[in-house]
Amino acid sequence: MYVVMIASECAPVAKVGGLGDVVFGLCRELEIRGNSVEIILPKYDCLRYGEIFGLELTLKDLWVPWYDRSVHCSVYFGFVHGRKCFFIDPHSEQNFFNRRAFYGQGDDDQRFAFFNRAALEFMLQTGKHPDIIHCHDWQTGLVPVLLYEIYQQLGMTRPRVCYTLHNLAHQGVTKEHILRATGLNRHAYYYHQDRLQDGANRGAINVMKGGIVYSNFVTTVSPRYAWEIMHTEQSCGLGHTLHVHRQKIGGILNGLDYEVWNPETDRHLPGPYGLATLDQKYATKQALRQRFWLRDVFKPIVCFIGRLDHQKGVPLITHAIEYCLRHGCQFVLLGTSPDSKVAQHFQGLKQRYNDNPDCHLELGFNEELSHLIYAGSDLIIVPSLFEPCGLTQLIGLRYGTVPIVRATGGLIDTVFDANHANKPYAERTGFVFNDFNAPGIESALGRAIGLWYNFPQHFRELMINGMRSDFSWNHPGQNYLNVYAHIRAK
Ligand code: ADP
Repeated sequence: MYVVMIASECAPVAKVGGLGDVVFGLCRELEIRGNSVEIILPKYDCLRYGEIFGLELTLKDLWVPWYDRSVHCSVYFGFVHGRKCFFIDPHSEQNFFNRRAFYGQGDDDQRFAFFNRAALEFMLQTGKHPDIIHCHDWQTGLVPVLLYEIYQQLGMTRPRVCYTLHNLAHQGVTKEHILRATGLNRHAYYYHQDRLQDGANRGAINVMKGGIVYSNFVTTVSPRYAWEIMHTEQSCGLGHTLHVHRQKIGGILNGLDYEVWNPETDRHLPGPYGLATLDQKYATKQALRQRFWLRDVFKPIVCFIGRLDHQKGVPLITHAIEYCLRHGCQFVLLGTSPDSKVAQHFQGLKQRYNDNPDCHLELGFNEELSHLIYAGSDLIIVPSLFEPCGLTQLIGLRYGTVPIVRATGGLIDTVFDANHANKPYAERTGFVFNDFNAPGIESALGRAIGLWYNFPQHFRELMINGMRSDFSWNHPGQNYLNVYAHIRAK
């Protein structure tokens, strides 16, 4: 099959969170299975250009309709660790993608609406007629709308659209100017509850809703999250739309790229380790301590890696740091926050623990360092308020770093409690807690720390169970191909 992936992230060139990992990993798996895959991305100025091989101009002049004029763009092509990527570079006065940031700009709605229109215009002008267009999250939600309302009439009749929802907390709610900008124009038609009108604010346009309504199939990133968005307040206002379209909605658990995340070959570690050489993990723990000036003592290292966002459970992360330090652990954190209040909070914590030889908070985004922390830690916490899938617990499992997670979304589908899971012992891999409060996380942390100190052999079994579990792209890759085949056959 010929698949074109349109996305706002692709690891490692443009990665903010899991979306980037998923786009890269899924494309790689689809190619391994013999499909032809191309990725279309914005040409951000903050791309990691060193990770692109053979970047060259492939289309000098692409004119993209925008309001009542056209914007001149160029398109570049390059390989990102083997994946074929096209990068769209608009030459407009708004400088859409030259902001030194991927997201968080006041005009994100326009930046990505433009990108959607440009991606389709590029495909039209270069005669690309894939079997499948696969787009992701609100940033590419207008792709199916524009395809069916404009580009099919211009001859793009072949592609079917698969749309993946990675996080319903961000839906791209905007105003009518986005219709004028993208050439959709017919206000009364789109301002309809069956199309793009936002459910809560009838004067607003909801881009993610448009993506759901217009695509041939909608996936979300875990079976549990698929259930949550259909049946709980996790729908974030899209419950009615999801219900109407329930026939074409399914949950496919994210995979993890087992080439990128492999302790046996990871070049960011001081040395390899694996199931047969698990003791070597200790060398990584020491390297992590050296890197962060932590003292060399007989204690487990607990870590957190991720966006420091409301979703990720800021109060519980804060509480876990204090609890761990009081209960015989070392703690390492790697994270960033676009929210200045949250960023200040963690800056304060960093200062407070600055001289503590058992704690290090690293406030920044650092892909290489994340590998060392995943590998060098004993435990990883994921105390999310909600979590569509979550990758950090999957990486923990792969690296023999036992996850402690809250029972929500994809975390429920991937981590099975050491004491309470309804599973054979050989399939239990971590610690799970229910309540989003201090006693909740303490109940899991206490059990985990107790096991590490008092029953090291059992702790090691948990590590091994996790390392043996399979969260590679193997199964999800096949599931996506089944979805593609299903919508092609319709
Ligand atoms: P989300 O997509 O909600 O951010 P996920 O758990 O699905 O969360 O994916 C997070 C991904 O981003 C993981 O690969 C994680 O290692 C990475 N990541 C998050 N924050 C950082 C950071 N500060 N430095 C390096 N990698 C990070």
